[in-house]
Amino acid sequence: MYTAIGYAAQSATTPLAPVKFERRSPRADDVAIEILYCGVCHSDIHQARNEWGIAVYPLMPGHEIVGKVTAVGANVTKHKIGDLVGVGCMVDSCRSCDACQANLEQYCLEGPTMTYATPDRVDGSNTMGGYSDSIVVSEHFVVRIPEKLDLASAAPILCAGITTYSPLKHYGVKAGDKVGVLGMGGLGHMGIKFAKAMGAEVTLFTRSASKAEEARRQGADHVIVSTDAEQMKAAAGHFDFLLDTIPVQHDLNPYLDTLRFDGVHILVGLIEPIDPPVHAGKLVMSRRVLAGSLIGGVAETQEVLDFCAEHNITCDIEMLDIHQINEAFTRMIAGDVKYRFVIDMATLKV
Ligand code: NDP
Ligand code: ZN
Repeated sequence: MYTAIGYAAQSATTPLAPVKFERRSPRADDVAIEILYCGVCHSDIHQARNEWGIAVYPLMPGHEIVGKVTAVGANVTKHKIGDLVGVGCMVDSCRSCDACQANLEQYCLEGPTMTYATPDRVDGSNTMGGYSDSIVVSEHFVVRIPEKLDLASAAPILCAGITTYSPLKHYGVKAGDKVGVLGMGGLGHMGIKFAKAMGAEVTLFTRSASKAEEARRQGADHVIVSTDAEQMKAAAGHFDFLLDTIPVQHDLNPYLDTLRFDGVHILVGLIEPIDPPVHAGKLVMSRRVLAGSLIGGVAETQEVLDFCAEHNITCDIEMLDIHQINEAFTRMIAGDVKYRFVIDMATLKV
């Protein structure tokens, strides 16, 4: 064991504050990482404030981690000291169920061990995330950061990137498909870039007309202001896929109307009950599919990092001093970030 430092919430109603805590010494298959950068995901806010009802305190968020290997366990073969590596939303899984065998550890039938606020499978301790100076993770859940990528802007690929890439790939988005992305925050801006790189014609649905110009710079071909009923109506029956990153309950019905027959509405932002209810006729009468998707497996996370390097895709980031983390949460809720905060972990030490 050694003493680590980081920022954690002690309850759903208290701000994040500095804490000292114990990290385990590397086990035989573990990699110890000095964290250089960590992205700030909206899930960090949901969890710190217990909006999903599953938080465990103290809760140290952070699952978009980039850093340098400082030590490896005796059996580690994938990484060595000095390597630049990443850790996303998971740090373990059962590794033997059908999902794990299919490289879909995120759907582990026993439930994956998440990077924070989940009991460690070996010692039962509460996992602590990347708002920290270091982390110790089994090598299987550690990915390589391609040399070509800027380290800070690569961090959000570990969650915002994989979460948007995985469903677009799973549903076979291809050249000429019409893809709508709902909400342009951390996930949404990456969704636009990936759909574009896959050859789709991309439309952003946003509440904020002021984001139109920026969306086009991200690669969107069109913008629909979702609060404008006329614009929504004009898009009826148009889209093959909708990638829905909206982080709160919202009415799906007007969006379903914009899908063609056989169109797919993919939820990634919502894990609460759908409210107001979906009118089943909108699915039945046009054979539309309402689907969901959770991050991506470890192998696919490596794939999306390599895809970003190959296609020169980066996240648009605003570098953050960790002392400003609570203000950053407030700004994210107000939609005031272009388009991902990334904590510069050097600021933790001053
Ligand atoms: P951000 O806060 O960065 O972006 C969310 C965007 O959604 C905003 O920029 C805004 O876009 C839109 N939005 C925000 N509030 C509302 C509202 N009240 N009504 C309508 N639209 C709204 O969040 P992230 O991109 O980091 O995360 C999005 C969601 O995805 C979160 O709920 C997060 O927990 C979840 N998530 C899911 C994962 C998965 O595996 N399924 C993985 C990671 C995150 P605009 O201004 O353009 O309307
Ligand atoms: Zn996330």
